[in-house]
Amino acid sequence: MPTVIDGKAAAASVIANVQAATSQLAQSDALTPGIAVVIVGEDPASQVYVASKGKTAKACGFNSIQHTLPESTSEEELVALVEQLNADPEIHGILVQLPLPSHIDSGRIIQTIAPEKDVDGFHFTNVGRLGTGELDSAFVPCTPAGSMLLIERAHGRDLSGLNAVVVGRSNIVGKPMANLLLNANATVTIAHSRTKDLPALCRTADILVAAVGRPEMIRGEWIKPGATVIDVGINRIPAPEKGEGKSRLVGDVAYDEAAAVAGSITPVPGGVGPMTIALLMANTVVSAHRAANRTPPRF
Ligand code: NDP
Repeated sequence: MPTVIDGKAAAASVIANVQAATSQLAQSDALTPGIAVVIVGEDPASQVYVASKGKTAKACGFNSIQHTLPESTSEEELVALVEQLNADPEIHGILVQLPLPSHIDSGRIIQTIAPEKDVDGFHFTNVGRLGTGELDSAFVPCTPAGSMLLIERAHGRDLSGLNAVVVGRSNIVGKPMANLLLNANATVTIAHSRTKDLPALCRTADILVAAVGRPEMIRGEWIKPGATVIDVGINRIPAPEKGEGKSRLVGDVAYDEAAAVAGSITPVPGGVGPMTIALLMANTVVSAHRAANRTPPRF
């Protein structure tokens, strides 16, 4: 049987480190990390995510401020709020919950966030820093950063000699994931919807990261025996066996089949998911350390 990588336990350990670093900063600099979460509109899933981020931030000992704006908010009003948060010395992390209403250009809003407060890691400056290996000054997007910590649990920080395949090339998961793996010396291939013979390519992977958004697409026979499988996908599918109208969450990997072949594997839920929010907290405490000219903790 494979090692099941416990994302909940790994996330709890990241949060414990964030709490310790926060206490340390309070003692050394009388400084409390501040995070501002901005949500526009009524999207129920976004409301749940934002509430959960606020709760975790408080548990970390941060000042957590939420700005809830109506759907009718104009792009200029949102830009003005982000600029106000950029200038606020008590705020170290700014998070604008996506998606934004369609009349607002999300790209413009993301690029308005000051790079040193961009704890989501989406600003071009942070994308460029990751792309050039300047990890000490970058903010790395939270889902790939969390996935990388799980990979390190299985392989350590140096992935020399290992083949990694990332399925998915989005800007928030696939591309930054590939850059992190490359930076750790893995030999990296990025696959996507135009890739030929994906099963054969996946079978070359010592480390396989699935970030596709297609329920259970990656089958057991695509997995190299002993591989580390990181399933980023979160897909809700009908589960009539649980009762009428019920659903359940599955990843992009057919878990039972893959678990029969893999060396280690993340479950869904309970794998990558809990790491994302933990890394958001980690990025915020790192930002506060940088603002205070202190060496940030390493996660
Ligand atoms: P996107 O939809 O932005 O990207 C999906 C990628 O998968 C694209 O690059 C696409 O290729 C590729 N793809 C689609 N179909 C195929 C196929 N048949 N074969 C090969 N590649 C394919 O998704 P995200 O990166 O935003 O998210 C991916 C998954 O991760 C989703 O399930 C999402 O819910 C989950 N997620 C989980 C998070 C967490 O906290 N755990 C956070 C963020 C996302 P192409 O570019 O050619 O279209």
